[in-house]
Amino acid sequence: MHLGIDDFQYSDLYDFSRLTELATAFDRFVGENDAVLFGRFDSYRGAVRSGIGHGGLTEPEESELLISVARHLGAFLAQLFRTDPTPLKARTQRDSVVARFKKEFVSKRVAKVAPHPVPLPAGGERVISILSGGMDHDHEYAFAVAATRLLDLEREYPRGAKEISPNPQTRAAVAQLREALGQRREKIDSPEALLREAAAIHAIVDVLIEWTAARWESGAFDGWPSFRLPKPVVYDRLVPPEPHYRRRDGFKLTDNRKTPREITDQAHYCIFCHERKKDSCSRGFQEKEDKYKVNPLGIPLEGCPLDERIGEMNFLRADGDSIAGLAIVMIDNPMCPGTGHRICNDCMKSCIFQKQDPVDIPQIETGVLTDVLFLPWGFEIYSLLTRWNPLNVRRPIALPYNGKNVLVVGLGPAGYTLVHYLANEGFGVVAIDGLKIEPIEEKWLHEPIRDARVLWDELDERILAGFGGVSEYGITVRWDKNFLKVIRIALERKQNIRVYGGVRFGGTLTIEDAFDELGFDHIAIAAGAGTPTIVRMKNNLIRGIRKASDFLMALQLTGAFKKASMANLQVRLPAIVIGGGLTAIDTATELFAYYPVQVEKILERYESMSGDFGEDSVRAAYDREEQQILDEFLEHGRAIRAERERAAAAGEKPDFIPLVRGWGGVSIAYRKSMLDSPAYRLNHEEVIKSLEEGIFYAENLSPVEALADDFGHVRALLFEKQIVEDGRWKDSG
Ligand SMILES: Cc1cc2nc3c(=O)[nH]c(=O)nc-3n(C[C@H](O)[C@H](O)[C@H](O)COP(=O)(O)OP(=O)(O)OC[C@H]3O[C@@H](n4cnc5c(N)ncnc54)[C@H](O)[C@@H]3O)c2cc1C
Ligand code: SF4
Repeated sequence: MHLGIDDFQYSDLYDFSRLTELATAFDRFVGENDAVLFGRFDSYRGAVRSGIGHGGLTEPEESELLISVARHLGAFLAQLFRTDPTPLKARTQRDSVVARFKKEFVSKRVAKVAPHPVPLPAGGERVISILSGGMDHDHEYAFAVAATRLLDLEREYPRGAKEISPNPQTRAAVAQLREALGQRREKIDSPEALLREAAAIHAIVDVLIEWTAARWESGAFDGWPSFRLPKPVVYDRLVPPEPHYRRRDGFKLTDNRKTPREITDQAHYCIFCHERKKDSCSRGFQEKEDKYKVNPLGIPLEGCPLDERIGEMNFLRADGDSIAGLAIVMIDNPMCPGTGHRICNDCMKSCIFQKQDPVDIPQIETGVLTDVLFLPWGFEIYSLLTRWNPLNVRRPIALPYNGKNVLVVGLGPAGYTLVHYLANEGFGVVAIDGLKIEPIEEKWLHEPIRDARVLWDELDERILAGFGGVSEYGITVRWDKNFLKVIRIALERKQNIRVYGGVRFGGTLTIEDAFDELGFDHIAIAAGAGTPTIVRMKNNLIRGIRKASDFLMALQLTGAFKKASMANLQVRLPAIVIGGGLTAIDTATELFAYYPVQVEKILERYESMSGDFGEDSVRAAYDREEQQILDEFLEHGRAIRAERERAAAAGEKPDFIPLVRGWGGVSIAYRKSMLDSPAYRLNHEEVIKSLEEGIFYAENLSPVEALADDFGHVRALLFEKQIVEDGRWKDSG
C-alpha cells in the first residue's frame, strides 16, 4: 500500500529506520508550514530530553505548543493515510453553532425567563424560518443558526446604550429581516429611524426568547442537547428517587454512547482549564504536597491517574480536530480503547465543576477515539500512534529489539499496558494468560484495515476472545468490548510481541521454566489482584448461592447469555445480590437481563425435545425438585414470549421489567445506606443505570443466614437491620 507522504509504504510503518525517516518527514512538514512553531517544538523536545521539566516552558505554554503541533500531526496523518477528516470538521462546525446557541441564547437568555403561559407568543417560527433560510431538516441546527444570527445583529444595538453605530451590513440585514416580517421599511436614514431599528431588533429577540421559553416548557425540545443545561450537583441526591426505566432485551451493548453533537456540546462546555494550569480533571485538586481535596462523599479528587491531557483533548475536539485530539490523549494513554466511557471516571469526579454537572470527559475521550477509528484507515492511524507519536517527546518512536526478553503474566489491562510499554522500549515480550485466547484472523495482523467496523461484532454474538482479563470476562455489556480487539491487533502486530493463551504461570509454566529453560531476563506479574469476597453468614455456600465474580465469569466465559449456547448457568427469582460495590451493581443488572434469556431458552428446548421424544419421556428425566423448577421456568418463559409478541405487534421493544419484578426481581442488599456504598461514592452513574434496568435496592441490611428448603436449596435470607449509633453502623438487635 502506497502512503500519501513521499515514497512511504504501509510496511515501512513497522520498520524502525523507516519510522525514523517518517519522523523526519513530519519535522519537515511542520517546518514548511510554520517554521517558528517547528523551532519552538524542536527546542522544547531537546530540553525535555535533557531532563528540563516541561522543556523550560510554563505548563500552559507547553499545552499550547503541543496543541499547535498536534494540529499539524493530524493533517500529516490524514495525508499519510489519504483519509479525509473534513466531514468530521464540517459536522463539528455545525454542532459548534448549536453549542454556541446553547451558551448564549438558551442558557443566558431563555433560561432566565420565568415559565410561560400558553398561548405561545406569535412570530418565533417565522423568525427562525427567515434567519435560517428555512431549509434545514435538522431543526435544532436551523434554530441555532437563526438565534445566533439574531444575537449577532442585536450585539450592534446594545440595550440602554447612549449611542449606537451598527455597521452598514448589519443595518441592511436588519432591514431585510424587518421587511420579511412585514414591518414597515424606513424611508429615510435618520437618528429616529436608527432608534426604531434598535427597538425592532430588541423586540424580535424578545419574541423569540418568549416563544422559545413557552415551547421549551411544553416539551418541544426534549432530547435536544442545546436544551439540556447543567444541573446543580447535590451530593446526597445524585440518584433520582424515581428511575426512568429503560427496557433491556438480552446482551447487546446497552449504551451506545453519546452522539457526535452531544460530544461537541460537552467539549464546548469545558472551559479549558489547562490554559490556566487549573485542569483538575487531569492533575487533581491538589491542596498541599501529595494531598488532594476530598469531595463531600469522601473521595479524594486526584484526577486522571494517567495525567492524560484532558483540557487539550477537549479543546481540539471542540474544533473537530479529533486526530490531533487522539494524538494528545495517546501521549499518556496509548491504550485508550480500554478506558473512557463506562470504564473510568476519576477525571470527571475531579472536573473544576464541583457544584454543577461535570464535563463528561469519558464520553469525549471515547468519542475522539471512535471519530478517528471510523475514518477510512482510522484503525491504522491509531495503530501507528502506538508506535510513533512525535508529541510523546520522551519516546516518540518504538525502539528496535534490544536483545532482552520479558515474560508478562496476565493479559488484563495491567498486562496489556505493560506489554505495550516494554515493547516500545525494545524488549522482546512474551505475554501469557491462563485463559484460552482465541486465535485472531491472520489478515488483520498483516494487512491494513480500511474500515475498523470489520472488527466490530454484536456483543451478544461475539466470541469471547480471552484477551483483556476482567475487562473481557467481568465487565458487562455496558462497555463495548470490541475495543479490546483494537488494542490486541495493535499490540500483536509488533514484531517483538508474542501472545499465548492457556498458559498458567505456576502450572503450565513455572519460574524455573521461564528463567532457566526459556531464558527470560525478567518476569512481570500482572495476574490481577482480585480475590472473591466471602460473605460471612451461615450457610453461605449452599445451593442457590454463588459468588458475584463467579457468576459474572460463568455468564461471560461459558457464553450462557447467548441464545445458541447450551451452557448450564441456572438462576432463580427472587435473587439477592449482597454488596455495595460496582461488582454488585454489574451482577444485579446481568442477572436481571439473564433471567428472561434463560427461561426463554429452556422453553424453546423443552418444546423442541418434547416434539422429538414426547413430553412424558422428557419430564421423566427430571426428579421432583427439577420438575418444580422446570415448570416455574416454562411458565415464565411463556410469559416472556407473550410479552415479546405483544411488543412486536405494537412495534416496540419488549418490557420485561414488570415480569421479572413480578417474579421477585433482583435486589441489591447493602449493609449501610446507598449513599454510603462504594458504588454511589465512586460512580453513582452506574447506580442510576442499574435502577433504570429495574433493580431494587434494599438498604441497611446485613446478611446473617441463608435458610434452606427441603432440597437444601436456599429459600430465604435472614438479615439483621443495621442502624447508625454514635456515627457507627451497628446491628439493630
Ligand atoms: C464485575 C467487574 C466490573 C468492573 N468494572 C470496572 C470498570 O468499569 N472500570 C474499571 O476501571 N475497572 C473495573 N473493574 C475492575 C477491573 O476489571 C480491574 O481493576 C482490572 O481488570 C485489573 O486489571 P489487571 O490487569 O490487574 O487484572 P485482571 O483484569 O484480573 O487480569 C489478570 C489476568 O491474569 C490472568 N492470570 C491470573 N493468574 C494467572 C496465572 N497464574 N497465569 C497466567 N495468567 C493468569 C487472568 O486470567 C487475567 O486474564 C471491574 C471488575 C469487576 C470484577
Ligand atoms: S474537563 Fe473540567 S477540569 Fe478539565 S479542563 Fe474541562 S472544565 Fe476544566
